[in-house]
Amino acid sequence: MELMYASTRDASERVTASQAILRGLANDSGLYVPTQIPALDISMDKLAKMSYQETAFEVMKRFFTDFTEEELKNCINAAYDSKFDTEEIAPLVNADGAYYLELFHGSTIAFKDMALSILPHLLITSARKNEVKNDIVILTATSGDTGKAALAGFADVKGTKIIVFYPKNGVSPIQEKQMVTQKGNNTFVVGIHGNFDQAQTGVKQMFADKALAAEMEQASYQFSSANSINIGRLVPQIVYYVYAYAKLYANGEIKEGEAINVVVPTGNFGNILAAFYAKNMGLPIAKLICASNENKVLFDFFKTGTYDKNREFMLTSSPSMDILISSNLERLIYRIAGDDANKNAELMKKLSVDGIYEITPEMKTKLNDFYGNYASEAETAETIKELYEKTGYVIDTHTAVAASVYHKYQKETADKTKTVIASTASPFKFTRSVMNAIDAKYDTMDDFALVDELSRIGNIKVPQAIDEIRNAKVLHDTVCEVEEMQKVVKQFLGME
Ligand SMILES: *Cc1c(COP(=O)(O)O)cnc(C)c1O
Repeated sequence: MELMYASTRDASERVTASQAILRGLANDSGLYVPTQIPALDISMDKLAKMSYQETAFEVMKRFFTDFTEEELKNCINAAYDSKFDTEEIAPLVNADGAYYLELFHGSTIAFKDMALSILPHLLITSARKNEVKNDIVILTATSGDTGKAALAGFADVKGTKIIVFYPKNGVSPIQEKQMVTQKGNNTFVVGIHGNFDQAQTGVKQMFADKALAAEMEQASYQFSSANSINIGRLVPQIVYYVYAYAKLYANGEIKEGEAINVVVPTGNFGNILAAFYAKNMGLPIAKLICASNENKVLFDFFKTGTYDKNREFMLTSSPSMDILISSNLERLIYRIAGDDANKNAELMKKLSVDGIYEITPEMKTKLNDFYGNYASEAETAETIKELYEKTGYVIDTHTAVAASVYHKYQKETADKTKTVIASTASPFKFTRSVMNAIDAKYDTMDDFALVDELSRIGNIKVPQAIDEIRNAKVLHDTVCEVEEMQKVVKQFLGME
C-alpha cells in the first residue's frame, strides 16, 4: 500500500513520497510527515548480516513506497559508494563506555553527507516520476555543514542549480573555505551579513513567495529544498540508527530486543527526529538524549514545555548547532498534538509572531522518551581533552557536546543502558577548537599546521576533504545583506 505524506499545517494536503521530496516544504510552510510510521518488520538476524546499502534499502522502501525497487537501489548505490572513505559507511567506535557512531566518513566529513549524498538522486528520480520539465533550483540556508554537503551532492547534477546562503561570520574557517572553493557550473555560494536563523528565514520567505514562484515558472525554474526539512533527508538518516543497532547485535554487544539509548548533538532537530522515527518503527531505543550547546532552547523546552526563542543568539565552537529555531521540532509537535495540523499551525504561528509557544500538559507527557540537557563551552572543551587523555580518541566539538550531556545524564540517572553517541563531524572540520581544547599552546599555529598536528597526535589520516582545500582557489565571493537575498537569487538565475 502506498504511504502518503501529510502537511503539519494543513489537514487536507496529501502527497506521495516523490512529490513531498520534490516540494520540500508543504503549503503554508508546513512540513511533510508520513501519515503513519511503517514497522521495521524484518528480523534482527537478517538486518545483522546486511551492508549499509542493504539496510538503507530496507528502511527507505518502507517510506518511499512510490519508488520502484530499481529506482531506490540506483539512488542508494549512487550515494553510498567510494565517496565514503570506509566500506562500513558509518562505523561504530567504542571509547570510554559509549559507542561513537561515526557519521563523518563522507565527502565533506560531517553527518550531513549521510543524507545529502542521496538527496540529489532521490530528487532527480522524483522529478522524472512526476514529469517535471523545469530545472530544479535548490535553495539552502546553512549553519556550515549542510551547505558544503549539499553543494558536493548537487554539483554538476543535470537539471539542477544550487544556491547556498551562510552567515558570513558564523561558520568555521574550514567550513567557509570548503564552500567558497566549490566547483561546478550550477553552484552559487553567498555569505550574508546576519546569522543562521536570518538566512533560514530568508530562504523560507522565498519558498512561500507566490509571485516569485510565478516568475520562476516563467523562466522554467522551480525551487526545492535540501534543508533538513525535506523528507528526503530525514528518512535516509533513520538508516544509520537501524544499522548501528544491527551491528551492536551482530557483534554480540547487545541481546536481541535489548534497548539502547542514543545521544544526538542537536541543532535543527533533524538527526534526533530520525532516531525518534526509528524508535517508532520498532527499533529498541529507550531514551533519546537531546544535547544542545549554549543555545539551549531545546533543553528549556523539554524541561518546561515552553519553546522560547526570544534570547541572545550565542556563537559557539559547535556552530552547526547555533540555532534558535529548530525547524524539525515541528514534526514532533505535530505528532504529540495527536497529528493535529490545526493545533500545530496555531503553535507555529505563535512562534513566528511572538517567538514563543507553550504545549499542553497532555502533550508534554508524550515527551517522556526524550531527555534534554546542554553543555557550556568550557564543558565541551573539557570533554574533548578528557576523552583524548584517557583513550587517545579525538572527537569534534559537536560530538563533545553530546558526550558531555551524556555524562550529565549518567550522573543524574545512573542509567546503565548501552548508549550510542552520534558523532556528527570529523575533528578535522573544527581543528582549531579541538586542538585548543586539548592544549592552549596550539593557539599560535596556523590552520593547516594544526591539521597536521591533529593527524599526528590523534594518529588519524588527514581526510581527503581537508587535503583538497589546502591549495584550492576561492571561486565564490558574493556577500549580501539579509534583505538582498532574493535579488542575488534572481541575478544568479539570470532573471534580473
Ligand atoms: C547539522 C549538524 C548538527 C545538528 O543536526 P540537526 O539535525 O540539525 O539537529 C550537529 N552536528 C553537526 C556537525 C552538524 O553538521
